[in-house]
Amino acid sequence: MTQAGAAIPLQVSDALQKKLAKLGLRTEDDLLIHLPLRYEDETRITPVGDAPWGEPVQLEVVVASSEVQFRPRRQLLVRARDAGTGDDVWLRFFSFYPSQRAMLSEGARLRVFGEVRGGFFGAEMVHPRFRTVAQDEPLPTGLTPIYPTTAGLAPAALRKLIARALDKADLSDTLDQDTLGHLGLPSFAAALHFLHAPPPGTPVAGLQEGSHPAWRRVKFDEVLAQQLSLRRAYRARREQGAPELKARGELAARLLGNLPFGLTGAQRRAVDEIAADLAQPYPMQRLLQGDVGSGKTIVAALAACQAIEAGWQAAFMAPTEILAEQHYLKLKAWLEPLGVAIAWLSGSLKTAAKREQLARVAAEARLVVGTHALIQETVDFARLGLAIVDEQHRFGVEQRLALRKKGANPHQLMMSATPIPRTLAMSYYADLDVTVLDELPPGRTPVRTRLVSDARRDDVVAFVAKYVEEGRQAYWVCPLIEESEALQLQTAQETFEHLSADLPRLRIGLVHGRLKADEKQATMAAFAAGDIDVLVATTVIEVGVDVPNASLMVIEHAERFGLSQLHQLRGRVGRGSHGSSCVLLYAQPLSETARQRLKIIYENTDGFEIARQDLQLRGPGEFVGSRQSGVPLLRYADLERDADLVDAARQVAEKLLDQAPERAERHLKRWLGSREELLKS
Ligand code: ADP
Ligand code: MG
Repeated sequence: MTQAGAAIPLQVSDALQKKLAKLGLRTEDDLLIHLPLRYEDETRITPVGDAPWGEPVQLEVVVASSEVQFRPRRQLLVRARDAGTGDDVWLRFFSFYPSQRAMLSEGARLRVFGEVRGGFFGAEMVHPRFRTVAQDEPLPTGLTPIYPTTAGLAPAALRKLIARALDKADLSDTLDQDTLGHLGLPSFAAALHFLHAPPPGTPVAGLQEGSHPAWRRVKFDEVLAQQLSLRRAYRARREQGAPELKARGELAARLLGNLPFGLTGAQRRAVDEIAADLAQPYPMQRLLQGDVGSGKTIVAALAACQAIEAGWQAAFMAPTEILAEQHYLKLKAWLEPLGVAIAWLSGSLKTAAKREQLARVAAEARLVVGTHALIQETVDFARLGLAIVDEQHRFGVEQRLALRKKGANPHQLMMSATPIPRTLAMSYYADLDVTVLDELPPGRTPVRTRLVSDARRDDVVAFVAKYVEEGRQAYWVCPLIEESEALQLQTAQETFEHLSADLPRLRIGLVHGRLKADEKQATMAAFAAGDIDVLVATTVIEVGVDVPNASLMVIEHAERFGLSQLHQLRGRVGRGSHGSSCVLLYAQPLSETARQRLKIIYENTDGFEIARQDLQLRGPGEFVGSRQSGVPLLRYADLERDADLVDAARQVAEKLLDQAPERAERHLKRWLGSREELLKS
C-alpha cells in the first residue's frame, strides 16, 4: 500500500506524460480532479431532418465525397448522407490534420456531434466532433464529459485515462460524515463519479449548473485546500520563535505626547493588537488594512517604538522612492527628537553615503527606512526585530520574505490601502491576521468629485488658476498609458508644457517615474514646501504621498484608470482642513464599463464600498491580481459567487489541522499536489 496521500505518478509513455503535464496533470489525483467543462448527449441519434437548428445533436452519417476547396477560404468540405434517412448534410472543416482527412474518406461511417444549421447547399455542420463507428455500434448510455485538453491529446484518450483513474485512484473522503451532513455535501467519491460519469438520464442542463451539490463539493474542497495550505503555513511560522518585544511603552507615550492629534478609536485598537502580538514569543504576521488617509503610518511608528524600546531594530520598507522618502522625513521628525537613530537606504544613494548608512544599519541605527534597497544582499542588520512593509501588495512574495530573512525571524507588519472585501481577504490573506482601520481621522472634509468632459478642459484650467490664487496647491495627473512607458513620459512632458503655457503666472512642477531620484525628491520637497503651485505627475504619486495644502486634483483621462487607482489618487487630497476637490476629466465617447466605473467613483468615497462594487464589475481574479499573493487561482470556485464557502472552509481547515492532521495532508496532496510550491509565502 502506498502511504496516505503519496502522489502516484502516471504510468504512461513519456510523450503522453509531456502532453498531460501541459494541462497540469502529473498524478492520478490530478486526473481525478480534472473536471469536465461541459457534457454532450451522445446517447441518441437524431435524423438530420429532425435536428433543431442551433442546438447540439448527434447524427450518424456515411461520407459520400470529400474535397479540399480553396475558395472562399481553404476548407475540407465533406458531403455526407444521413445513415437512416439518406438526407444530405455537409460537414465543413477549416483546419484539419491529414489523419483526420483520411478518416473522412468516401464510405466512412461517422457519428458527428455539433449544431446543424442552414448552409449554402442545405443542412451543414461546421467543425463537428466526429468519430468513425461500425454499423450498429451501440450508443453510450451516459452523457459524454468534455474535458479541457491540449493539442495532440485526443479527447477520447484523455477520457479513457480519467475513467481509469476514477476506477483505480483513492477516492476516500477527507471530510467526516458529520461535516458532510452539516454542510449538506455529498461524499468525494459520489461527487466525482457523478461529475465524470453522470448517471444515464441526467439532463445536460442540470449538470452545467455550478450549484449542483457535486460541484459544490468540488468547490468546497478546493477552497478548503487553499485554507489548509495557508493556515498550515501560518501555524508553522508560529512554531518558530521570535524575540519578545516587551516594553513599558515610554517611547511610544513620548511620541504620542508630541503629536498634534490624538489617535482615532480604530488606530488605538490596532495599536493595542499589534502591541500584544509583539510581546509574544512567536512572530506577528499581521496585515493592517486601512483606507487611504486612515493613518496607518503612526500605527506603524508606534509599533517600531515598542521594538526599539525593547532593544531591537525596526525596518520600514516602502515601494517607491517618493513614498519611502516621505516616510523617512516624517519618522525622522517624529523620532529623532526622542533620541532614535534612523538610517535611510535607497537605490539612489551615492557610494560613500550608502557605505555610511550600511555601517549604521549594522550598528547603532534603531530604525531603518527605505525602498527595495533594504533587502539587497549587502544590507546587514544588527538586530532586526520588526519588519514593516508599506503598500505590501506592491511587493512580491519573495521580497517580503527577503526582508524577513534580514533578521532572526522578526515580527512582521504589512500595510495596505487597497481595501478588499472580507471574503477575499479571508481567502487571499488566510495566512495573516488582519486588522482593519475602519475610521478616518476627524476633521477630514469629504473630497468633492466632479466628472467633466475633456471638451471643457479650459474651464478646468481656469478653475485651477483660481484655486491657486487662494493660496492652495493642486495635482494634475497625466493620462495613464499602459502600453508604453515612453509614450507615458512624452504625454507627461506635453501636459507639463501645455499647462505651463496656459498658466504662465503659476509655478508648475513635473514628476514622473523616469526622473533621477534626487530630482524627484527635490520636486516633491518643493511641492511640500509650497514652492510649486501645480504638480504635474504620473501615477508615481499614487501611493502614500501626503501634502495637506494640496487640495485639488485633476485626473486626465480618468476613464483609463482602474477604480482602486482612482480611489488612491483621490486620497491624496482631502487631507487638510479646507474643502477638497477632485476633477475627473474624461474623453467621449465612454464605453459602458468606463461609464459604470466613473459612476462608482463619483458616488462613493468609502474604499471598501468601491472595492466591493469593483469586484462585482470585474470578478476576483483580475481584482486581486496573482501578484498580490502566493495563492494559485482557484479553478472551480469563484470567490464572489461561492463566497459562503470561505467561512465554512476556514472552520473546517482549523478543525482538521487540530484534530486530523493526516487527513489535512491527504486533502492538500489531492488538491494541490504538484502545485503546492506556488503557495509558499
Ligand atoms: P495612510 O493610512 O493612507 O498611510 P497616513 O498615515 O499617511 O495615512 O495619514 C494621513 C494623514 O493623517 C497624515 O498627515 C497623518 O499625520 C494624519 N493623521 C493620522 N492619524 C491621525 C489622527 N488620528 N488625527 C488626525 N490626523 C491624523
Ligand atoms: Mg500610507
